[in-house]
Amino acid sequence: MARDATDKAHRVMQAARRLLDTCGIERPPVDLVRIARHLGVQRIRELDIRLDGQLVELADGGYEVILSRNAPHTRRRFTLAHEIGHILAASPGDESMNCGDAAAEELCNRVAAELLIPERFITDRAAGMDVGTLRRLATRFQCSLEATAWRVLNMGQVAGALLIWRPLEDGKLELSASPRTFGFATPFENGAVLDGAVPFVRQLTAQSEGPVTYGGAPGGRVYTGDYVRLNKVLLMYLTSEARPRSSKTRRRSSAAPGQGELFS
Ligand SMILES: [Zn+2]
Repeated sequence: MARDATDKAHRVMQAARRLLDTCGIERPPVDLVRIARHLGVQRIRELDIRLDGQLVELADGGYEVILSRNAPHTRRRFTLAHEIGHILAASPGDESMNCGDAAAEELCNRVAAELLIPERFITDRAAGMDVGTLRRLATRFQCSLEATAWRVLNMGQVAGALLIWRPLEDGKLELSASPRTFGFATPFENGAVLDGAVPFVRQLTAQSEGPVTYGGAPGGRVYTGDYVRLNKVLLMYLTSEARPRSSKTRRRSSAAPGQGELFS
C-alpha cells in the first residue's frame, strides 16, 4: 500500500510539472486558470463559503471550482492550485476528490507549491536569500510570503533557516515550524517557547520587521538574519551562523572545506 502511495505521488508530481509545458506557461505568475481549463474546469466561482475552496464534479464530466471570496488573492491562488492537485490525483474509484485524507491533502499542497513556484522560474537563487528577496519572489509569483519561503527552503538550494513563530499570550513566542534548514542547525527546537521578557523576543514583538541577531545559542554561536510579522505568524529567516573563535578548536584555515581553493 505504502509503495502504491509513493508511486502515485511521484506520478502526480510529474503530471504537475508537465502541465507547465503542456499549457505553454513560460513565466510567473503561473496562469492557473489556463491550467484549470486544460484539466476540464468549466467555471471558477468566488462565493461566501466557510472552506477555502471546493471542487465539484459536474454531471457532464467537467469540474467547477468554488473559492472563498473572503480569502486574500494569494490564498485563493493557493487553493485553486490545491484543487488542481485533486483533479490530477483523481482516478476512477478513489476518494482523492475529497479533502480530508491527510496524505491526499499533503500531496495536493505539494502540487500547489510546484505549480505556484516552479523551480525553473527561480533564477536568482544563487544570490542568496533574505526576507527582501523572498518578498520580491512572492510578488512575482503572486504567492504569500510564507508559502514562498517554505517553497524556496524546501528546494534545498540556499543555505539558511526558516523559523515560523506563533505569538502566544504575554508576548511569548512558540516555534511552530522550521521547515528546512541548510548549512547550519537552528538554535531552537520545534515547540520551543521563548519568554516575552527576553530582550531578543521583545525586539521581535515591538517592531513588525527588521534585522535580527541571536547570541544565546549553546557554544556561543551567533545567528543573524531578518524577520517579518505576518497576519498570524512571525517569519524569521536566519542567513548566517558564526561560531566563536577559540584557540583550541580553531582550525589552521578558517575557511569551510571547499572554500579554501577559492581564496588561496
Ligand atoms: Zn484538499
